[in-house]
Amino acid sequence: MQDKIKHVDVVIVGAGMVGATIACGLAQHNLRIALIDRALPKSIKSGEPPRIRVSALHLASEQLLQNLGAWAHIPKDRALAYSYLAVKEMPAKSGFVSKLPDITSWATTRFEAQDLGREHLGHILENDAIQLGLLDRVAELPNIELVSGVTIESSELGSDKRMLTLSDGSVMSADLVVGADGAQSQMRRIAGIGQFSESYTQHAMVVSITYKGGVEQGTWQAFRPEGPLAFLPLPRIDGVNYGSLVWYDSPNTIAQLKGLSDAELRQKLQAIYPQELPDIEQILQVASFPLAKSHAQQYSGERIVLAGDAAHTINPLAGQGVNLGFMDAAVLIEELGKALINDQALSDRAVLKNYEKQRRMFNQLMMSGMDAFYYGFSNRSAPVQIIRNIGLGLAHRSGPLKQKVLEYATGLQGSIPKLAKVSDV
Ligand SMILES: Cc1cc2nc3c(=O)[nH]c(=O)nc-3n(C[C@H](O)[C@H](O)[C@H](O)COP(=O)(O)OP(=O)(O)OC[C@H]3O[C@@H](n4cnc5c(N)ncnc54)[C@H](O)[C@@H]3O)c2cc1C
Repeated sequence: MQDKIKHVDVVIVGAGMVGATIACGLAQHNLRIALIDRALPKSIKSGEPPRIRVSALHLASEQLLQNLGAWAHIPKDRALAYSYLAVKEMPAKSGFVSKLPDITSWATTRFEAQDLGREHLGHILENDAIQLGLLDRVAELPNIELVSGVTIESSELGSDKRMLTLSDGSVMSADLVVGADGAQSQMRRIAGIGQFSESYTQHAMVVSITYKGGVEQGTWQAFRPEGPLAFLPLPRIDGVNYGSLVWYDSPNTIAQLKGLSDAELRQKLQAIYPQELPDIEQILQVASFPLAKSHAQQYSGERIVLAGDAAHTINPLAGQGVNLGFMDAAVLIEELGKALINDQALSDRAVLKNYEKQRRMFNQLMMSGMDAFYYGFSNRSAPVQIIRNIGLGLAHRSGPLKQKVLEYATGLQGSIPKLAKVSDV
């Protein structure tokens, strides 16, 4: 039996964006790594319309992927560099505030890349393009073995290793197992780590579209009490402009919207979204997601450490989820690298606790920040609506405060590990 067990230094369960990033980083420390996933995305064909799941990567995430040699593997024609992001509130449709002069266009906060002296604030691209770029990088690194099409059948803790029996019957052992297996993490359950979790009353409907006119250069979000409406531009492919819309609303409304024909949905989007929405040409795909936040009670157990959505999920309204996961990855890579230099075991609880210490507070802070937006903008009380609008307008005009918010949103500030630090301009 012993002969059939494959031993590596680290098994990473989940070759998603976060797990594949950790593999690329740990490979630089000359560790032997097994990267396991139950299903990998199909490669993207040239000219293929963008797939429905997209992410807005901030500058620090981009820098991390560059430093790990993965960015170069992401086809540039699948990524759109966005130069501004804007937040506004939709004019009130009923109640006292609807009778007052409409100040919502004054009360728009718009953050520009040039405010930071940069050409762009980040890139918007398909999750699959990011993951496949990382996996291309993985393929260049001889000390990573990628095993796909399997899950974990069981796990046992030995005195000096953790054993994993895979669903194909093979057995692996490792000094440390990284659980990067997403929100429903099996590794979190195996480690016996509980989590705080709470569902939001809103669901998100994502709609991929093509639109007319020039390529939009920025992403924006318009708040309404029912939930925000977001627009994310995607790159122009073969002369066609693509975009992604996210409509947050009650599960009932989302179910009704999903029941509309493409023509009806197009009409509805064009009527309800703010006028900034470009003219939709075609609806390509529609999907919806329930929204929940969760936070693992601990980020590590016996010879197991969690990262990315396995450790925390947040409301996606500011598009920060995977950016937090990338920063987890960078800190974990750095802390395990330091452990090797200091001759500490990779599974040393002090090492893993140190990783958690650097990440938990910031992840929690982001989670609370998203809640402030979520609950703040869902409030229909007239004084709150007026204060909110004045706040947005003032935020737009308050130089230093605006600059700080932008630095956090783009990953230039806020517990950024060295591996992801963006150089000053
Ligand atoms: C509507 C919506 C919009 C979003 N928009 C943004 C955005 O704009 N920007 C942003 O930063 N984030 C966004 N997010 C969040 C982002 O998608 C997640 O944070 C991110 O996908 C998490 O990456 P991950 O690698 O941790 O987990 P996942 O992407 O879930 O990857 C987990 C991997 O593990 C594998 N796996 C799972 N279980 C097992 C198992 N038992 N055995 C083997 N393999 C397993 C899966 O196949 C998968 O490959 C959004 C989320 C939603 C719902």
